[in-house]
Amino acid sequence: MRPARALIDLDALRSNFQLARELGGGRKTLAAVKADAYGHGAVACARALQGQADAFGVACIEEALELRSAGITAPILLLEGFFEADELPLIVQHDLWFAVAAPWQVDAVAAFQTTATLQVWLKLDSGMHRLGLSPADFRAAHARLSALPQIAPMVLMSHMARADELDSARTGEQAAAFAAAIDGLAGETSLCNSPALLGWPDVRSDWVRPGLMLYGANPLPVQTAQTLRLRPVMTMQSKIFAVRQIEVGEPVGYGARFVAQRPTRVGVVALGYADGYPQFAPNGTPVLIDGQAATLIGRVSMDMLTVDLTDLPQAGIGSTVTLWGESPRLDVLAPLCGVSAYQLPCAVKRVPHELVGG
Ligand SMILES: *Cc1c(COP(=O)(O)O)cnc(C)c1O
Repeated sequence: MRPARALIDLDALRSNFQLARELGGGRKTLAAVKADAYGHGAVACARALQGQADAFGVACIEEALELRSAGITAPILLLEGFFEADELPLIVQHDLWFAVAAPWQVDAVAAFQTTATLQVWLKLDSGMHRLGLSPADFRAAHARLSALPQIAPMVLMSHMARADELDSARTGEQAAAFAAAIDGLAGETSLCNSPALLGWPDVRSDWVRPGLMLYGANPLPVQTAQTLRLRPVMTMQSKIFAVRQIEVGEPVGYGARFVAQRPTRVGVVALGYADGYPQFAPNGTPVLIDGQAATLIGRVSMDMLTVDLTDLPQAGIGSTVTLWGESPRLDVLAPLCGVSAYQLPCAVKRVPHELVGG
């Protein structure tokens, strides 16, 4: 069997969740498990957090139904609401929560006849200018929807665009715009994503919505006492399955991107960009081989990549190669490869997941 696999440490996930809850001040915590839990496996992660998370956040009804089919009974929020009004009956049938972020969605909800109670998260555009109602539309929608018997007390939400930039005034401005827009309106509030939780202790809300930090990756460009407590959830591993010795001046791989400057022992690892490893990871990108630091050499292929074994004479066929995990960490590796710590695990595919930590 091909040895590539992604180990998913569910204890680390729970520990990161507890950190998010603690940073949120013990308030209600929604775990973002959209995009298959950022590539970590939404069903496994939601099962591991059932009983702890107050709700789960997904991108669309398809993702919510996957969780419901797997027996997840906790509240599930459609973070982007519904894409078409005809999702509303399914939303009721599966007891889902949903964001309302545009005037047409307000109209659709108001027009929808149901005996059920709908849990709406009313979304304000506080300055990101992606989703959300303008302040005027927000207050109008709040008045209109609050008056309807089928609408439960709403959660008032907004989303931060630059919370990972600790020297930007924008997060404070967005928080102030949110406070002004909801002034006097009834409802719980929800503002904080992972970077806001980790980087902005003064910005808090009734509900916090951590995503990336649950998976143990630091969304901030610096380490803090809190980010050091994050535990990597995914370990991407494979094995060396071929070895060769090359002379000075000989190239390795497509495009001859690496040329040996010394007699070089090359190891071939069963993992490539079709598994989610970044194709353009540069020569010198760190990897761990049987627990020892080593480097990537040559361009990453679809199903394989090559590493320098010259300084690791004990390593060879069968040696375990860690592409990311405890070391190198996902959030260190990603920027070296010109991708974000969000993008890297989301790209993982084909590799079987192996759950550890129950
Ligand atoms: C994905 C998402 C989050 C989580 O963001 P992270 O930066 O991963 O913590 C929070 N809120 C909304 C609306 C989201 O879509």
